[in-house]
Amino acid sequence: MEPAAMESARTPRALDTEAVHAGRDDLAGLGLHAAPIDLSTTYPSHDSRGEAARIDAFAATGADPEGPPVYGRLGNPTVARFEAALARLEGTEAAVAFASGMAALSAVLLARGAMGLRHVVAVRPLYGCSDHLLTAGLLGTEVTWTDPAGITDALRPDTGLVLVESPANPTLAEVDLRAVAHSCGSVPLLVDNTFATPVLQRPAEQGARLVLHSATKYLGGHGDVLAGVVACDEEFAGRLRQVRFATGGVLHPLAGYLLLRGLATLPVRVRAASANAAELVRRLTGDPRVARVHYPRIGGAMIAFEVHGDPHEVVSRVRLITPAVSLGSVDTLIQHPASISHRVVDAGDRRGAGVSDRLLRLSVGLEDAGDLWADLDRALGEPATAIPLREALAGSE
Ligand SMILES: *Cc1c(COP(=O)(O)O)cnc(C)c1O
Repeated sequence: MEPAAMESARTPRALDTEAVHAGRDDLAGLGLHAAPIDLSTTYPSHDSRGEAARIDAFAATGADPEGPPVYGRLGNPTVARFEAALARLEGTEAAVAFASGMAALSAVLLARGAMGLRHVVAVRPLYGCSDHLLTAGLLGTEVTWTDPAGITDALRPDTGLVLVESPANPTLAEVDLRAVAHSCGSVPLLVDNTFATPVLQRPAEQGARLVLHSATKYLGGHGDVLAGVVACDEEFAGRLRQVRFATGGVLHPLAGYLLLRGLATLPVRVRAASANAAELVRRLTGDPRVARVHYPRIGGAMIAFEVHGDPHEVVSRVRLITPAVSLGSVDTLIQHPASISHRVVDAGDRRGAGVSDRLLRLSVGLEDAGDLWADLDRALGEPATAIPLREALAGSE
């Protein structure tokens, strides 16, 4: 690295600056503006002894190999740029990217399970598939569900991980991360920070050892990349890279490129979408068709609300808003968690976690707030009290 670039990398920079420059500090020195996309699956070398040494080093620590990665499953320079940038945004030493958020969570569970630490303590609600992965024990883990106050009592000698989401998918319930981190003692706390993004919350600063993202959501931000990432210390990152190498859940370099590009606008997207969300919360609150609005204290662009009427009807009537699962895109998305994102969770467990059958989850995008409200207002339909009147008039229509 050029001395000037090293200097700028050391100077503390604000989040907005990191979002645009982290992972790209060397580009000007290379005579480049956009990050290069390296699609190589293999890296030729006439020095087999050197390759053997690099493979041995990776097997020992999981550190990113010095020089070319030998083979695409060990690492990729384009993906490494995204990882470096996300680590800067989350304030961690490292980050390890995966093919999806679920691949990222799986790698964490496998890394701990390989150490004989198969027990997980988790707080509901979680994203539906994370709940399912733990409940079904698909990776040989055993889960104890508890509330934040019960974490310490739930810990066992073989507890390898404590898992929370805040704000949680889909109810937007929040936990006090600092208090939860304290309850975990020496057990690593994983915070799924998908909903908040590092723009609104940096869990590592509050004691989380692992910060997980479904990068499919806000980090990518445009609904065109499936990805996951874990931000953590270098020691844990090494184990995650080794699991990724052995199990193959790697991120494609094109996805790495798109994620790096997505990070550049992350702060402005999150702030603009959050302003839209706050406006929609204002209009939904007190609306006679809406029973309850959930919106986290830290803000953000996700809203959940319970309707008096039929939530399926609301989804069927949106026209501007996209009726689809997922979130964090530039366009506004609505979905019914009990039918889609949390369908794989047992109905009793789901309701017990506060996911009502009347709950709708709205991921607010960057459209004009007035246009969004016009669509939502129409989709919500007539106030419940007006239905008998409409029925009474039906014959005259
Ligand atoms: C979507 C999501 C996941 C899973 O991520 P994928 O990229 O879909 O595998 C995990 N956690 C949260 C909070 C999510 O919203």
